Amino acid sequence: MAQILDGTAIARALRTRVASEVADFVGTTGIVPGLATVLVGEDPASQVYVRNKRQSAVAAGIRDLHRHVDADVDQETIAAIITELAHNDAVSGILLQLPLPGRLDSKRLINLIPPMKDVDGLTTLSAGLLARSEPGLRPCTPSGIMSLIDATGIDLDGADAVVIGRSELVGGPMARMLLDRNTTVTTAHSHTRDLAAVTMSADVLVVAAGVPGLIGAEHVKSGAVVIDVGIHHSENGLVGDVRFDEASKYAGWITPVPGGVGPMTIATLLENTLIAARMQAARPV
Ligand code: NAD
Repeated sequence: MAQILDGTAIARALRTRVASEVADFVGTTGIVPGLATVLVGEDPASQVYVRNKRQSAVAAGIRDLHRHVDADVDQETIAAIITELAHNDAVSGILLQLPLPGRLDSKRLINLIPPMKDVDGLTTLSAGLLARSEPGLRPCTPSGIMSLIDATGIDLDGADAVVIGRSELVGGPMARMLLDRNTTVTTAHSHTRDLAAVTMSADVLVVAAGVPGLIGAEHVKSGAVVIDVGIHHSENGLVGDVRFDEASKYAGWITPVPGGVGPMTIATLLENTLIAARMQAARPV
């Protein structure tokens, strides 16, 4: 039976560590890290996500520099807001909450964020830094997953890792980050012919397909670390991409949904904001 990787507890410990390091940073530099969340419109889910991010930032001693913009904003106005934040010394990190209304060009707007303030790690430049294994800010969800995997204490060097999904947000950067830790990485996706044949070799299996219950007993190698990134609303509450009851019989470690990957994402955003503040203190933008 698998041990549970308790994302809630691990995220709490990370938030506590970040808060203490923020206090040290303020003490030595006199600079209070600031997080500028930018929310466009009134989407209820985005409002909840942004509120949680702002509250967690404040609890960690990070200044809340939120901007709320009307849903009918035009591309030039929101571009000007991001450019102002990019040049504002009080702002360590900029987070543009996605999704944006469809008529806005999200990619162009995200790419206005300078790499040193890109706490979501989603700009093309940040992706390039990751692709080259150069220092930079990494996307929060895969970064939080690395912290979860590290909490198991397993030796990643030379291990087989399989990532299901190749999105820009999760699967793509996840595979790259696992490669940087010297695992042998395979990426599976919607065109993969025999998923079980690929996943059965995985010492570490990260499932980010967005398909409820995709992964079950037939996919999990005995003793594997299984990370379930999926989040879906069902009549039984939140469920993931992994059939937990089946997979936990074979896995060595497994994340629950909820309480696995989800809580790590915000904790990592705070960590990234501190890293961003440190980079800017060392080399102003
Ligand atoms: P996405 O839809 O952008 O990408 C899904 C990927 O999975 C694609 O690369 C696709 O090729 C692959 N895929 C789809 N069906 C597949 C199948 N049957 N077999 C193999 N591969 C398949 O999704 P995303 O943004 O990467 O998110 C994935 C899931 O993670 C979603 O459920 C999302 O809600 C969740 N998510 C959770 C968090 C968190 O903090 N917990 C953060 C981001 C995303």
